[in-house]
Amino acid sequence: MKPLHRDTAIVHAGYRDAHESGVFRSGPQFSSTFTTPGEPSAHALTYGRFHNPTWTAWEAALAELEGGESIAFASGMAAVSAVLGVTLKPGDAIVLPADCYYTIRLLAANWLSAIGVTVRLAPTRDNAQAAVLDGARVLWIETPTNPQLDVCDIRHLTSLASQKGIVTVVDNTTATPYLQRPLALGATYVVSSDTKSLSGHSDVLLGHVATREADRAAALRTWRTQHGAIPGPMEVWLAHRSLATLPLRVNRQCASAQALAEFLASQPRVTAVHYPGLSTHPGHAIAKTQMDSFGSVVSFELASRAHAEQFLQSLTLVREATSFGGVHSMAERRARWGGDAIGDGFIRFSVGCETVDDIIQDVEQALATIASV
Ligand code: PLP
Repeated sequence: MKPLHRDTAIVHAGYRDAHESGVFRSGPQFSSTFTTPGEPSAHALTYGRFHNPTWTAWEAALAELEGGESIAFASGMAAVSAVLGVTLKPGDAIVLPADCYYTIRLLAANWLSAIGVTVRLAPTRDNAQAAVLDGARVLWIETPTNPQLDVCDIRHLTSLASQKGIVTVVDNTTATPYLQRPLALGATYVVSSDTKSLSGHSDVLLGHVATREADRAAALRTWRTQHGAIPGPMEVWLAHRSLATLPLRVNRQCASAQALAEFLASQPRVTAVHYPGLSTHPGHAIAKTQMDSFGSVVSFELASRAHAEQFLQSLTLVREATSFGGVHSMAERRARWGGDAIGDGFIRFSVGCETVDDIIQDVEQALATIASV
């Protein structure tokens, strides 16, 4: 027999007991505690902050996707905090992308700096982080970045970092492990907000960390147990249910995102389009070598805040909301949050699973209203 196609493996990921009779797909396991007479070590399950069978199945599925042991957390930021917590101590330095997800830079400025960790910022584009690596403990990579969708070369940066004894973390949220597998490209850790494409329906917050090193995975589990950043079983079960359709969703979203990006590039009211799938994107060549496709987020620029607000108010199908990766298309004026070096007319557009003609039709009519501003 040939090995299963990746998409087939994802449909079945995490379900170990396929041939046992009984429940086809068990529900979430709600239990804050387990019956544990006598010696706790004699029991596989003891207390709900330590382990949960619904997490175990989800983590097995994530491990198949990532190619490394995976630990689930209550949100993407809980996963980010765990990696920072187990890798850094006072006196260390971390190299962060100057354009990574803003809350991670805020976390570093507010909490890491306060405990004596030096935070160095350098842009993602042109692998600029390589120039400030010396003496750092951790290199943090995000590619493509949120929201500017800049790209760096994961293989190149992880190899440079490992020559210098630096641990690398890749925030893989925009790409997902379906499109990009950083552990195979040399990363020590992958971190992800599963609030986005992995759960994919804009209903739960979750995150995870993956690593191939057993001692690092054990430290993350201890961190989760002791900090209590645990996911709810219902959220995990919903995400696992959604995982089976990840290939269907992401393949459609990527194809539609490419079509939308090409359409936007032809529009006179659009002053710039950022999508790694466009041959004009500065990171296109690198993205092609490390991603299977280019993702569901397309960013673009309109001339002003007034143009962007007019555009967003005129959309009828696409909702104005902040997140990405879900089945419903959504868009927002990203500068309303602050923190990113972007113009006032910068739009982050998350392409959903609707028929692409309907998405483009909605965008086209909304762009047409800009003339009246
Ligand atoms: N990393 C990236 C790249 C993100 O875009 C986000 C959220 O938007 C996070 C981490 C944090 O994830 P969460 O909102 O699930 O805590």
